[in-house]
Amino acid sequence: MAKELLGKPVIAALKEDLLGRIDALKSEGVVPALAIVRVGEREDDLSYERTALKRSEGLGVEVRRFVLPEDAGQAALMDVISQVNEDDSIHGCLIFRPLPRGYDEEAACEALDPAKDIDGIGRAALARVFTGRGEGFAPCTAAACLEMLDAYGIDAAGKRVAVVGRSLVIGRPVAMMLLERNATVTMCHSRTENLEAAVREADIVVLATGRAEAYGASCFREGQVVLDVGINVDAEGNLCGDADFDAAFEAVGEAGAVTPVPRGIGGVTTSVLMKHVVEAAEKSAFSRPCE
Ligand code: NDP
Repeated sequence: MAKELLGKPVIAALKEDLLGRIDALKSEGVVPALAIVRVGEREDDLSYERTALKRSEGLGVEVRRFVLPEDAGQAALMDVISQVNEDDSIHGCLIFRPLPRGYDEEAACEALDPAKDIDGIGRAALARVFTGRGEGFAPCTAAACLEMLDAYGIDAAGKRVAVVGRSLVIGRPVAMMLLERNATVTMCHSRTENLEAAVREADIVVLATGRAEAYGASCFREGQVVLDVGINVDAEGNLCGDADFDAAFEAVGEAGAVTPVPRGIGGVTTSVLMKHVVEAAEKSAFSRPCE
């Protein structure tokens, strides 16, 4: 039987590490604090917010919520971002996206202080991911994929990796981060010809397309590691990934491993968010460079 790569032990290990670091910060009089900026009441945002609040409570990370009505307008949003930037007691900020129609999302992302950009939404953070130079945090979901590989002792160096999906939130940054780790990366997208063959050839597959259970047995082979980032809803209304989990699980066999959805990468993303807040707080308290 293949191995199921569960998020739970990864989340527990991250928590243990962070609790010690948060204690050290608190002994210096610093309470790590996360600002959450939400415009409107999208159910996806509310769900992520609830998970973030729960995770932060368990760690002792403070959360300050800045909630605007959907019709608040760009000026009100920019004002909130300025407040966050100017408040030295806030170390990191999560702005829920996509913003409602009519907002200039790029302007909002660029307005956030790069030191507080813990989800890698601004150009400075992405430049760090793409060039390896400068400072800043990678987008949390992309970082969660690497966290997962590390926790299960899977070394990407020298391996063939297929990343399906090329968004700036997941596909592109995770490809760059794996390249940085000496993987040989193939990026696939909606225009890729013979995508199944590209995916089947890889040793490690990252699926990030948002297509419910679209990747079945013909995409996978013995021994692969499949990281399923997709969060979708199936025909019965249940959460599912981009992979047909049962088919992938069987195809990769005893030597392979697959992340389930839910209980896989999704929860690790929230822990990485907390890790980034703590790193940002450490940086401001101890002038420690971000990892
Ligand atoms: P986007 O819609 O921004 O990007 C989707 C990508 O998938 C695009 O690059 C698109 O290609 C590609 N794609 C679409 N159709 C196909 C196809 N038929 N074959 C190959 N590639 C295709 O989505 P996101 O990157 O924001 O999110 C992807 C998934 O990850 C979603 O399910 C989302 O819910 C989930 N997610 C999970 C998170 C977590 O914490 N686990 C966090 C954030 C998102 P093209 O560029 O050519 O259009």
